[in-house]
Amino acid sequence: MGGGLKTTSVPHTVTFDDIGGQNSAIRELKEALDFIIHDEEVKRLGIRPLKGILLWGPPGTGKTLLAKAAASYTDSAFVASSGSEFIEVYAGVGAQRVRRLFDIARDEAIKQGKKGAVVFIDEIEIVGVKRGRNEGHMEYDQTLNQLLVEMDGINPNDDIKILVIAATNRMDMLDEALLRPGRFDRQVRVDLPDKKGRLDILKIHSKGKPLASDVDLEKIAQDTFGFSGAHLEALMNEAAILAMRDKSSVITQKHLTEAVDKVIMGEKLDRRPTP
Ligand code: ATP
Repeated sequence: MGGGLKTTSVPHTVTFDDIGGQNSAIRELKEALDFIIHDEEVKRLGIRPLKGILLWGPPGTGKTLLAKAAASYTDSAFVASSGSEFIEVYAGVGAQRVRRLFDIARDEAIKQGKKGAVVFIDEIEIVGVKRGRNEGHMEYDQTLNQLLVEMDGINPNDDIKILVIAATNRMDMLDEALLRPGRFDRQVRVDLPDKKGRLDILKIHSKGKPLASDVDLEKIAQDTFGFSGAHLEALMNEAAILAMRDKSSVITQKHLTEAVDKVIMGEKLDRRPTP
């Protein structure tokens, strides 16, 4: 039991340079991660060790990328799972899977010769839902309790240092127990990108793609108010597909403009007037 947990622990290559439009989130995150890097200083000054960081904001804004980049920045192994993995019909399985996730993280760190591991839990609201909101569902409570036990058990003197990074689109649903000092007491807002952020993301995702000389990415950034990073990545991909269909060797402004419409239609994006 608990062994059916799905995790990803592939060696990661994402760095903060691969993430556009999230300068303030990156700044806050790095500030927190520096506590892990300078752990001797932290111990000497008697600062409470950092155990958990919560990334919160709309879908597709780069929360998973930020967690991967945090693992690169701290030279840690990266093990990811999702809140939905811990909810099972059988009593006790969720709690066992939480334990297993932390064991996998320690094993991965040893295997990869790292001193630490980042445990990433996406959709944390599924396990961290306010107690009482789940109509007394025992399984949810046990799973959440186990997560709290694991986090409380993280010791800065352990050979392998564990940092838990969780992500949610629904901060309002989280149980306060998760947000207490010593748990996810660092909360980093990851918002939709502004125009400059959208331009940065478009530039990142057009790397290695042949763009025609008429391409004006600034205009595309202007026209994509409300798009997330994931939408902008899809837009660049869609534009490349349209170029291929046109048997064009380069991506033109027309392909990009059509791709904007495709993404809007596909996602039924809520688009307010461009500011
Ligand atoms: P969810 O809340 O739905 O889990 P998320 O916030 O974790 O989403 P990611 O999984 O990090 O979002 O992003 C999905 C993909 O979208 C990334 O692999 C990347 O291609 C692109 N992307 C999202 N945000 C950014 C960004 N800020 N910069 C560059 N690419 C981005």
